[in-house]
Formats: sequence, structure tokens, C-alpha cells
Amino acid sequence: MKTGPDPRRGLPAVDRLADAVRGAAADLPAWAATAGARAALDEARRAAATRTAGAPPEFDALAATAVLRGRALAARHPRRVVNATGVVLHTNLGRAVIARGAGEAALEAATRYGDLELDLATGRRGDRLAPLGRKLALLAGCEAALAVNNNAAALLLAVATLARGREVVVSRGELVEIGGSFRLPDILEAAGVRLVEVGTTNRTHPEDYRRAMRPETALLLKVHRSNFEQRGYVAEVGVEVLAAIARECGVPLLEDLGSASLIDLRGQGLPEETFAPARLRLGADVVCFSGDKLLGGPQAGILLGSARCIDAMRNDPLARALRLDKMSIAALDWTVDALLAGDAFETLPALRQLSESAASVEQRARALAALLAQGVAAAGWRLEVTESRAPVGGGSLPGFELPSWAVAIRAATSAGSAEALAARLRSAAVPVVARVAADAVLLDVRTLLDGDETAIEAAVMNALQGGPR
Ligand SMILES: *Cc1c(COP(=O)(O)O)cnc(C)c1O
Repeated sequence: MKTGPDPRRGLPAVDRLADAVRGAAADLPAWAATAGARAALDEARRAAATRTAGAPPEFDALAATAVLRGRALAARHPRRVVNATGVVLHTNLGRAVIARGAGEAALEAATRYGDLELDLATGRRGDRLAPLGRKLALLAGCEAALAVNNNAAALLLAVATLARGREVVVSRGELVEIGGSFRLPDILEAAGVRLVEVGTTNRTHPEDYRRAMRPETALLLKVHRSNFEQRGYVAEVGVEVLAAIARECGVPLLEDLGSASLIDLRGQGLPEETFAPARLRLGADVVCFSGDKLLGGPQAGILLGSARCIDAMRNDPLARALRLDKMSIAALDWTVDALLAGDAFETLPALRQLSESAASVEQRARALAALLAQGVAAAGWRLEVTESRAPVGGGSLPGFELPSWAVAIRAATSAGSAEALAARLRSAAVPVVARVAADAVLLDVRTLLDGDETAIEAAVMNALQGGPR
């Protein structure tokens, strides 16, 4: 027990402080004013409890803190930002931007009743995923397909269904951590399977897999190294050889591709493992990948493969817990239609950005520079159009960068101010997220969407003039 003065003494009542917050920030909703006041008072009490002496904060200081806390609580999240990083699948910025049509399909699914689980022809109960599954299978040229909440869920479902209570063989070179607490050994444990590691960190050979195969073995798993590269003295076993080993032993082969597409992106310079159907043709029984990476759709986990494996997953109790919601189903259905129609490079923003020629990106960079030039010069900063390179992102394609173009803004004098400018751009009404390199803020235009140039102009002018935030 603490002795001494009551730490609460001298603190105002919540209602009085909330009134002051409402007076100072009329636009704040009442609930946020009250919650902000409570948060500020809690902080003051905690500070008083750890302090042996000293006065409680002044009422005005307390009210100012309460306004800040109230504003932070009431802020909408997520908010629109401008992605000026050039990273098309930026995980922190929401990965793939879906097509407007896909977004409208999701909006209609959410704000109208729909035949989600009704067969309109018979009036009987329908399957929420069957129509999408048919289209996915058609596009991929495989027997069956299933979509779940995300790729982590797809992997969990596949492993649990195909190997629950038994052993899964994985190369030590593929026991990856993707980030955001996705670690392969943890997923396998959660799926209730025993992980059998084979090979070494840098080299795994066919013999390593063969030696590990036992009657308890239920599944061979290959995982794409989405966010790192191995170079030097390395060896991994390809899908074809793995498929042969799996067949010899009578177990399925599952490949987690991470980021993949249902159309061939090799023409865009992307590696062959990004084309999911080809992995099935090489012998994988099931592949899984994210809907919001290279596919260019909403968050989802796509599973493709043999009818036997996919049906088993569909009927597993976990499938219900991991199922896709109706908005995502609608958006994914729209996205798959675009891929089937063959015009996905125009209609899907992620693919459009990935495939835009460097010349066209340069042209847009010059147009943005022209828009900004006068204001930047007037504020005493320098501007130039430069070539840039940006990774595709989304934990996909390590080591692969797209050539791009950027507008570079740097201070005429003091070094280090680029970081400060980048921070001010992030605090704009429409925040602009840019890269900083060599004392310059780089506004990469490859990832700009309709209307972003105007938002950048407003943010840059405001930031350089040190105007109101
Ligand atoms: C991104 C990724 C995942 C996780 O996918 P989510 O859709 O984010 O759940 C799993 N495995 C690999 C190899 C990945 O690259």
C-alpha cells in the first residue's frame, strides 16, 4: 500500500473535463470526448501513482491531452493514403488494390440481400462457394478449388485435413517466418500435425525426403521462400521430383506458393513459380496462395487441386471456421471473371501497375514534376525526375524489383530534412507515404492511382510551406 497524499486529489471530474473537450473540439463525437477525458485522467492517475511528490497537471494541459486521446479514438481506420513507395503489394498499405468493379460487387453483396446460399432455380439451399469454385477450377484447369479467409487459413486447413495427427515432411530451408506472426512450425502445430524436418538450412536433397518417409507420413509440404533469397551453396528439390517421391509413397504433395496468379506473368518478367496452374501440372496435388498478392483480388486464401483433396478440405470442420465472407466472395468472383475475360492487365489495378512500361511510368513522373515544380522551387527546395526501383512487395518475389520513375524532392541546404518532409507528408489530410533515400523524398509514381497526383500536390505544398497540418 502506498501512503502519502491521495494521487487523485486535484484531478477534475470526468464530466467537467469532457465538457472542456467538447468546447475545444466541437467536431468530436460526444462518446469520443468522454472517452478522451477518461483516458487523460487515467494517465494522470497512473503518473501520480508513480510519483512521490509534484503537482497534478493543470486543467488546460489535461484538456489538451484529452482532446488528443479523443481524436485518436475517433479517427477512422483504415484511412485512404497515397502509396508513393512504388511497392505495388505493400503489406502495410493493404496489399493489392482491388478493381472498382470488384469493390462495387462487395458493396452490393453487403448492402443488399443476395442468393449467397440459395439456389434460385430450385429455391433450395445452395453452396456459397460452389460457383466461385467452379470458375477458379476452370481458370486454373484443375479438378477443384476452394477459397478461404486468407492463405494462412488455406495452409492450416490443407495441412489439418490431409495430415491431422500424422507427420508432415518439410525442408529445413523452408521453415519460414513470413512476418505478422506467421511461422510455419507454429501453423503446423496449430493444425495438429507433427513436423518432420529434412535437409539443412541451405541444402535439401531428394534422398533427405525419401529417408523421412514412414507409414506415419501423411503429407509432403513445399513452401515458397516469399521474403528472402538463398544464394551460394544451396540446393532445393523441385516440385517435379517431390511429386514423384510423394507418389511413390502414396501421400499428397502440397505447395504453399504465397504469391501467385492464375494467369501467366512470365511475360512481365516474373518467375515461373508465380503461375499456379503450372505447379499443378508439374505434379503438386494441391497449391495454395493469397488472393490479395499477385492475384490482384481481395484478402483470401485460394486452394486448387484434386477433387479428392479439395472435397476433403471443404468437408473438414475447420472449413466453417475459416470460411470467406460474402463481400470477399463477391469481390473475388468479380476478379476471377476479369482473369477469365483476358483483360486483367487493364482491369485489375495490381496487374496494371505491375505491367505498366517504364516509359509510361516516366511520362507520369514528368507530369507530376511539372505539377509540383513551381511550388517546390518557391519554397526553396529542389526537384528532379529520377529512375527508381521498387520491390513488388507483399512478401512475394524476393530479389525481384520493377524499374520505375520517381519525383525526388530535396532541401537545397540542410541534410536530414528529407525524413522530416516525409513525416509531414504522412500527416497530410490525405497522407502520402513516400520513400526516403540519399537525403531526398522519392515520390514513386508507379503505384499512384486516379486522383493521387492532386492529393500529393496538396500534401507537398502544405508540408513545404510549413502550413497548418
Ligand atoms: C503471404 C504468405 C502467406 C500468408 O498469406 P496470407 O494471405 O497473408 O494469410 C503464407 N505463405 C506464404 C509463402 C506467403 O508468402
